[in-house]
Amino acid sequence: MVACGAVIGLATSTSRASLGRKLASKPWLHSVFAATACGDEVPEGKPAPDVFAEAARRLGVSPCDCLCFEDAPSGVQGAVAAGMRVVVVPSLPDAHDGLAVLPPNNHGPGVVELLPSLLAWQPVGYGLPPFADVIGGVVIPVTPPIRLRGPVVRGFGRGSRDLGIPTANLDADALLRGSVAEAVTGIYAGWASIGESADVHMMVMSIGWNPQFKNTHKTAEPWILADFDEPFYGKEIRLVACGYVRPEAAFSSLPALVQRIHQDAADTRAALAHPALAELQHDAWLAPGSSAGSSSGAAREVD
Ligand code: ADP
Ligand code: MG
Repeated sequence: MVACGAVIGLATSTSRASLGRKLASKPWLHSVFAATACGDEVPEGKPAPDVFAEAARRLGVSPCDCLCFEDAPSGVQGAVAAGMRVVVVPSLPDAHDGLAVLPPNNHGPGVVELLPSLLAWQPVGYGLPPFADVIGGVVIPVTPPIRLRGPVVRGFGRGSRDLGIPTANLDADALLRGSVAEAVTGIYAGWASIGESADVHMMVMSIGWNPQFKNTHKTAEPWILADFDEPFYGKEIRLVACGYVRPEAAFSSLPALVQRIHQDAADTRAALAHPALAELQHDAWLAPGSSAGSSSGAAREVD
């Protein structure tokens, strides 16, 4: 049982024997699940509702009181058929094709939310308290942090011109080494340093899809929360993103977007004052010319 009184169960297509092997390497998960139901313990697997109904029965709760988290269409179908509400977090970009998305606060069975990541799920929207490790009710610590470094390159110049918010662009190689392709899209809080300077600044960074690459590459664009006398194209930028602020969102107007980014900056400043994130300003990655920051090494080598 989690602190708020909710119970967590697992409904999996995996066989009991296979689940045992999978959980063996992650022993801490045993205490997370109050009940588990496996594919070989029910008449029919997903997309049939059986394994979800069985998991709910073993938990001692009604399916209509369950919120199911699913990544695959067959699982979504099964959970909805069992009478559950479902939050869909696709593991593949196109996995949500064909899923009807019903509006949130719908209390009947069906898909209530489609999210880019579990990081984007807000328990408060379901009458539950926020996660205990969320800082200031907003920012989720990212462990290990995302560490990036590389030369600052030119983008379209849109950040300063259209928004009044400059964002330093990293070259494709730095994004590749930093595993940006695997990172959850959204807005991050963190620390930055530039060139030969050891000064460390706060930064707000967006990780998302860049139209320049026909949406095939994710990019990372930090706005450094400091004033610079001149641009720093060509200099090395070092970044440690340690907090997840929010998922990407669509805005009705440019001023609404700008206002939101300033809110993100305020949330970032507040979160980075928290000891758990403040200590990362001393991360060896941010030191100019440090061995941890060798541009030839793997971007996560200091984890
Ligand atoms: P581009 O599309 O070339 O990235 P932007 O309008 O987004 O152009 O401006 C980003 C550039 O502005 C950075 O590469 C950097 O040289 C400069 N710059 C100046 N101040 C900042 C800041 N506070 N944060 C990020 N970049 C800044
Ligand atoms: Mg930019």
